[in-house]
Amino acid sequence: MRTQAPGTFIIGSFGRHLQARVFVSTIKIIYRLVALFVIISAFGFIQDGCLTTAYATHPRYTEHDLPGHPEHAGRIRAVWRQLEELGLAARMKAVEVHPAYRDLLLTVHMPQYLDILAWIEGTQHRIVHLDADTYACPTSYEVAQLAAGGIVGAINEVLGGRADNGLAVVRPPGHHALPNHAMGFCLLGNIAIGARYAQRAHGISRVLIVDFDVHHGNGTEAMFYDDDTVLFVSTHQSPFYPGTGHISDTGTGKGRGYTINIPLSAGHGDSSYARIFEEVVWPAARRFQPELILVSAGFDAHWADPLAQMRLSLTGYDHITRELIKMASELCGGKIVFVMEGGYHLDALSHGWRNIAHALLGDQEISDPLGPPQDGRQEPNVRPVIEQTRKIHGL
Ligand SMILES: [Zn+2]
Repeated sequence: MRTQAPGTFIIGSFGRHLQARVFVSTIKIIYRLVALFVIISAFGFIQDGCLTTAYATHPRYTEHDLPGHPEHAGRIRAVWRQLEELGLAARMKAVEVHPAYRDLLLTVHMPQYLDILAWIEGTQHRIVHLDADTYACPTSYEVAQLAAGGIVGAINEVLGGRADNGLAVVRPPGHHALPNHAMGFCLLGNIAIGARYAQRAHGISRVLIVDFDVHHGNGTEAMFYDDDTVLFVSTHQSPFYPGTGHISDTGTGKGRGYTINIPLSAGHGDSSYARIFEEVVWPAARRFQPELILVSAGFDAHWADPLAQMRLSLTGYDHITRELIKMASELCGGKIVFVMEGGYHLDALSHGWRNIAHALLGDQEISDPLGPPQDGRQEPNVRPVIEQTRKIHGL
C-alpha cells in the first residue's frame, strides 16, 4: 500500500502531469527570483561604482585672518563659492570635522611649540607675528587644529571605507610648518599629521605624499626625513622660498631615498610637469607601493599666481591631478586625499579646486577660464633635472 503524505492528492498519470507542471512553475519562479536578485545586485554595484568623495571643510577656517596678507580668509571663501554654486559640494559627502587632539599633533611637533601656540590663544593681542610672514591671532591655534582635523576626517572616511577618495579644503596651510616653529603662512603640519594619523589609527604602513605646491614643502620633508614609511615627492621652483629642496637631499638613515626633490627653474609649465609625473613620480610610486596617497595641492605654480614664476595652466594642473587619481587607482584602491596648501590668484585657486572635485567625482569636466600663459615663451628644458633625479634615485 502506497503511503501518502497528508494533503497530497496526486495519483496516477494526471497526478504526475500536475506534479511536472508544479515543478516547472516552481523552477520559473526561482529563475525569476534569481534574475530579480541579479538585477538588484547589478543596480547596487552600479550605485557603488559612482565615486563617493569625502569633502572636509569648516566655517571656522575664516577666523584665522589678516586682511592684506596673501594668505587671507578670502581664499577659502572663493573655493567654497566655486564648489557650492556648481552643486559640487552637494554631490560630495560632508565630513564632520573635529580639532586634531594634542597627542596626535605631538607625533610631528615639539610640545614647547604647541605651548607657544596655546599661549597666543590666551592673549588679547590681535595679531602675533611668528616669523617674517606668518601671523597668528588668538583663534589661530584652534583653527589650525581644525585644519589638521579636516585632513584626519577625510582620511577616516576613505580608510574607513565610507568614501572612495577625499578633499580637505582647509587653512591655514601646513607644509612649511616645522616641528618646533611656524613658517611660511603655516602653523601645523596638516598633511604630516594626517599621514601619521593614517598609520596609527588605521595601521597603514606606507603613505606617499606628493607636494605640487610651487614652494618646497620643507616642513613635511623635515617630519619624515629619516622615515622609510612615508615617501615625500616635491616639485618646486628653485632657487626660491624657502631655499630648501635640493635634488641631492634624499633623506637620512633608514629614510635615505624616501625624499625625492625635483627643483625646477622658473618658467616650467604643463609639458614639464607632465613629463616629471610620467618619468619620476609614477616609477617612484610604483616602486614604493603606497597604501594611501596624500597630495599637498598648491595652485601657486599657476602662471597667474602673484607670488611665483612657474607657468602651469589649470589644464596642466588637471592633468597631474588625474594622473595622481589614476596612480591611486592602480596602486592603492583609489585611496587619495587632496589637501589645500597655497595658491594666491583667487580664480586659479578656486577653479583648481573645482577641477579637483570634478576629477575625484569621476567627471570629465575641466574649467580653465584663464587659459595658457599668454607670453608665448618656451618652457626651459626639463630633461636634465629628470635625468638627474632618475639617476640619484635609481628610477
Ligand atoms: Zn606655496
